[in-house]
This record gives sequence, C-alpha cells and structure tokens, in this order.
Amino acid sequence: MIISILRKAYYYLRGSYAYALIYTYFRFGSTGAKRNLYVQEVDHKGEGLFTNKAVKQGKVICVANGPVRFGHFEGDDCYLFPNWYGIESGVWVEVEHPFVKINHGCTPNVGISDTRTFVALRDIEADEELAYDYSTSDDEIDWKMDCACDCSNCSGEIGSVQSISLERFDMSYPHMPKYFIKLYQKASQRN
Ligand SMILES: [Zn+2]
Repeated sequence: MIISILRKAYYYLRGSYAYALIYTYFRFGSTGAKRNLYVQEVDHKGEGLFTNKAVKQGKVICVANGPVRFGHFEGDDCYLFPNWYGIESGVWVEVEHPFVKINHGCTPNVGISDTRTFVALRDIEADEELAYDYSTSDDEIDWKMDCACDCSNCSGEIGSVQSISLERFDMSYPHMPKYFIKLYQKASQRN
C-alpha cells in the first residue's frame, strides 16, 4: 500500500510537465516552447499536427502537456483512453491540445525523449506533418489499431512495443521512454 502510494507520488513528479521542462532544458538546452505547431486536415486521416518551422535532427519539437494517469488495461479496456500514451508500466500522460492531434507513423519523424520531450528523428521541413510511432509508448498486448499511415514501411497494424520489428524499433531508438526500450529488448531476447 505505502509502496504503491510512493510509486504514484514518484511518477507524478517524474512524469510532470514541470519536470519535463527542466529535463529538456538541461538535456537539450531548449524546451522548444517557441516552436510553432498547428493542426490541419490530412487526407484520409482526419487532422494531423504540423510544424511551421524546420527542425534539425535531434532538436526538440516541444514538451507535451497533459496530466499523469495511472492504470493497467486488458481486453476492450485498452481502448478506453485513446489520448493516453505510456511512460512507464501503468503510468500514462493524457496528452492535450495540440499534441493530441499527432498521428501515428510506421516511419516516424518524431520520438519521445524521457517522458514528454518530442524530438526530431531526422531533419524536418517547415509545414511537414509530425508523426511518432504509437507502438513505442504502449505495452498492452491486447491493444491493436489498423494503420493508414501510407508509408512504404507500413505494417498495416499498430500494436504494443513487443510486437514491432527491429527495423521499426531502430527508427525511434533511443527516443522512446526507457521502460519501453527495456521491455522491447527483453521481449526480443526471448524470441
Ligand atoms: Zn503504418
């Protein structure tokens, strides 16, 4: 009981927006706070998130806002909170506008450093759509979504991190929460 309360308190702090801003400033020398993001319609996909400034590989796009949430989900419950992404086992960020509009990509151009810091995986041009690999922040083996990302690498399905190919993993590595890196490495050693 006390361990669970302490663990929650730790992850409230560790996953908080304030912590992420400090982490990002010291790790990258910038929080990307002035980066201009905007939401626009995308063919066949509803809305997507775009940057109106070019971003160099390895630079911060932004620190995602939204509260920390807790919970483990199985079966149909995996679909209860589509705007949550994982940062640890049973610890999530309920991401808010405008970052909630970011689409999944099987060939992502954005990854997550630590908990909330979205970083360019390659040089990104102004007015390019941003996409990250949803699988790099989910460990629920019952969770699956059809993918319509239209890239040549598209697997047609998005699932938990344990389900992706090494090629997919390497595209985002090391920019995904550490817990998911360790989980993937453990799962791939078993296979
Ligand atoms: Zn895809």
